[in-house]
Amino acid sequence: MQGLTVAPKEGTTMQVSGACHCGAIRLAATVDPSRVVVCHCADCQVLTGTAYRVVVPAPVETFQLHGEPKRYVRTGDSGAKRVQAFCPECGTPLFAIALEGAAHVSLRVGVLDQRAQLKPSLQIWMRSALPWARSLTGVAGCEQQELFGAR
Ligand SMILES: [Zn+2]
Ligand SMILES: [Zn+2]
Repeated sequence: MQGLTVAPKEGTTMQVSGACHCGAIRLAATVDPSRVVVCHCADCQVLTGTAYRVVVPAPVETFQLHGEPKRYVRTGDSGAKRVQAFCPECGTPLFAIALEGAAHVSLRVGVLDQRAQLKPSLQIWMRSALPWARSLTGVAGCEQQELFGAR
């Protein structure tokens, strides 16, 4: 149908690569672009310092990491422990992985060079979504920050 955005087919794979803001840590993996998820849980809000997190899983066997991230272990509501990895220098959140027996690494989409093509297909933890983060349609916008100085 005309005007419809075609979602990536399930089972498609894409090579992704990325780096933290200071460049000390680089990563690469293979992902399925139909599996990008927005997480609105309260932990993701705090850990990202923003309204929600965008993630895509990558099979651990495809994951390549260069550099040594700092690892923070978070215990979820279920009791499961997950390692949150971030750059010790610039603080960029990079990925999360189960402390034991992980099959997937959860990549933070914001660090990936291909992020513009990684459109979410699911939102989870809507229960804790910030009411204003459900849609930014209607919020004034400008190309850069022309309107920001006036605030
Ligand atoms: Zn860094
Ligand atoms: Zn979350």
